Amino acid sequence: MLRIEDLHAWYGPSHVLQGVSLEVNRGEIVCLIGRNGAGKTTTLKSVMGLIEKRRGRVVFEGQEILHRPAHARFALGLAYVPEERRIVPGLSVRDNLRLGLVASPEGRRHEAERIERATAAFPRLKERLDQVAVTLSGGEQQMLAIARAMISGPKLVMLDEPSEGIMPVLVDEMFEMFRRMRDEGTTILLVEQNVELALGLADRAYVLDQGVVVHHAPAAELLADEAIQERYCSV
Ligand code: ATP
Repeated sequence: MLRIEDLHAWYGPSHVLQGVSLEVNRGEIVCLIGRNGAGKTTTLKSVMGLIEKRRGRVVFEGQEILHRPAHARFALGLAYVPEERRIVPGLSVRDNLRLGLVASPEGRRHEAERIERATAAFPRLKERLDQVAVTLSGGEQQMLAIARAMISGPKLVMLDEPSEGIMPVLVDEMFEMFRRMRDEGTTILLVEQNVELALGLADRAYVLDQGVVVHHAPAAELLADEAIQERYCSV
């Protein structure tokens, strides 16, 4: 479904991704792990076209997208939830969700129904549709960012550090929801600092180090491989 081949990216003179290749198949949860600064976020941002200087091939649903504009990615069914969430603090939960519809290929058709459907998996949001987003807890804001990405019905969603700064009980709830999303047909590419949690959820994993993939394996295999985790994933 998504194939990244020999992806390079630069921040100014700094050559941060040095030939990343990976694949995500339909219906999988794939996680990308590695130390701080390994290039995980830069990989996702490059796929979304958010890094100016980039080179390589990114093929999504059979189409080369590395240099396509953002709306073309949306139209093909690719969604991205960045680490910094980017919800609009002064708007209600409902209006933040509406923003996800504006960006979707279908526009604002069947709005109420789609908001209903998108929040079905997030009872906390459903109870708070008219609450101003700034008053949500960190975990609830993260759920809102995910629900907003899901409202357009993407085929593949890329999530950057969804558990960051969130209390454990909400993290468990969120990861349970990722399982359900996969069971309902959404494919997920996940960047996660919490390696055990990520490997417990994912089907397969790639380990990044200094801008290249140094290892990939079924997640269960990596979860049992303490040597690899120690070598490439300790902060
Ligand atoms: P983390 O878990 O810390 O977010 P990461 O694996 O996601 O790590 P990236 O954020 O992709 O790593 O960063 C890769 C490298 O690029 C790091 O050395 C980082 O310092 C550098 N970098 C990231 N963003 C910028 C930027 N805007 N300008 C310059 N260098 C950057």
